[in-house]
Amino acid sequence: AKGAAMVTAVAYRLTDQARQIQQTLAEFRLSKAQLLEVKKRMKVEIERGLKKESHEEATVKMLPTFVRSTPDGTENGDFLALDLGGTNFRVLLVKIRSGKRRSVEMHNKIYAIPAEVMQGTGEELFDHIVYCISDFLDYMGMKSARLPLGFTFSFPCHQTSLDAGILVTWTKGFKATDCEGENVVELLREAIKRKEEFELDVVAIVNDTVGTMMTCAYEEPTCEVGLIAGTGSNACYMEEARNIELVEGNEGRMCVNMEWGAFGDNGCLDDIRTVYDQAVDENSLNEGKQRYEKMCSGMYLGEIVRQILTDLTKRGFLFRGKISEALKTRGIFETKFLSQIESDRLALLQVRAILQQLGLDSTCDDSIIVKEVCGTVSRRAAQICGAGMAAVVDKIRENRGLEHLNVTVGVDGTLYKLHPHFSRIFHQTVKELAPKCDVNFLLSEDGSGKGAALITAVGCRQREMEAQ
Ligand code: BGC
Ligand code: MG
Repeated sequence: AKGAAMVTAVAYRLTDQARQIQQTLAEFRLSKAQLLEVKKRMKVEIERGLKKESHEEATVKMLPTFVRSTPDGTENGDFLALDLGGTNFRVLLVKIRSGKRRSVEMHNKIYAIPAEVMQGTGEELFDHIVYCISDFLDYMGMKSARLPLGFTFSFPCHQTSLDAGILVTWTKGFKATDCEGENVVELLREAIKRKEEFELDVVAIVNDTVGTMMTCAYEEPTCEVGLIAGTGSNACYMEEARNIELVEGNEGRMCVNMEWGAFGDNGCLDDIRTVYDQAVDENSLNEGKQRYEKMCSGMYLGEIVRQILTDLTKRGFLFRGKISEALKTRGIFETKFLSQIESDRLALLQVRAILQQLGLDSTCDDSIIVKEVCGTVSRRAAQICGAGMAAVVDKIRENRGLEHLNVTVGVDGTLYKLHPHFSRIFHQTVKELAPKCDVNFLLSEDGSGKGAALITAVGCRQREMEAQ
């Protein structure tokens, strides 16, 4: 009888434990009503960002990009492109040919940016960038060419023209001094001058979302939205000039870099943020900022998972109640590991092998829980990202007074590309929350490089026309 009582007690403890874990995860499981609410709030913030009177205090900045049209196939020439702010820093040579046999040929090299440089002085950062350009030009044998350059700089910038962008604030892993409030195109030009080795013509500064949209639009003219779901999260789209109060003129359209990562920075998402989201925010380089991004981008999903796992361990539900050094390590769950853990093709034994690789000793039960935590966190990410996108496509539909809209979204980013479920759940959510829109998604092939070159080509053409 005593034995039976003990078995019952153990069984009770197990079900109680399972119940408590489910209770913790329940906060991440959003209903359709909650997601519709997120969509609605995004719409409100979009309007606040666009309007002159509310722009100053708006969190979703809706920044004008001075890109007024998507490519038309007449773009031509050789261009350099830089891609800073994603998973890798790259320098590219892009050769675009117009005419009947349109083509784009690219050469690129990846360079590391050490964390000390990302978080050092601005001068060091830009000197490092120019050092990489110099290496690339040597490698291509093109040091004397004075090429036009497009600078994909994936951070919020206040633009006053195609080739001027004042950094509003660093995001993601960057925090170099003396850059915020400065025109980063000038910082780059000055660093090129300091080096005294080569000349370049910096024509355009480009957000990665815009580069992605332009790249996809080159193949598919219905593409008028760009999305990055990668290290960071953001979107852009073609807005009616009359709605962009920050820029003179009411004719035509202009691409707006939404900077939706900052959605929620005024507290409007506090009711769905959990204590784990708050902990991730407090642990970050930019506390209080980019709250939406911190719920749905690759740089932070693993951190949310780590916070939950740490809590469950403290409560004795995981890893035999022991917090290991690995579990204390910031950034340990990179997107690629989350993607592996959540892969349906992996047996639990393989999940345990991955955890082992990360320095986490797990039991079979542990690995089941870890997988469920990862799945819950990434599902919420895909859903709230989808709710944001639903607001965008509905906004475009309303702008045009349409009952029904067909539109293509160009997409890039490690989370979207690598994760086994993110894209599917994201698509489903957009469909459910914006039923009056037929949305196509097009993966961009190297959007940051190609797109920057296309925008540079358009910029050069505009300049020639103005000179005439
Ligand atoms: C930046 C955006 C960028 C996004 C994706 C965010 O942190 O603020 O400018 O588009 O990351 O790279
Ligand atoms: Mg990128």
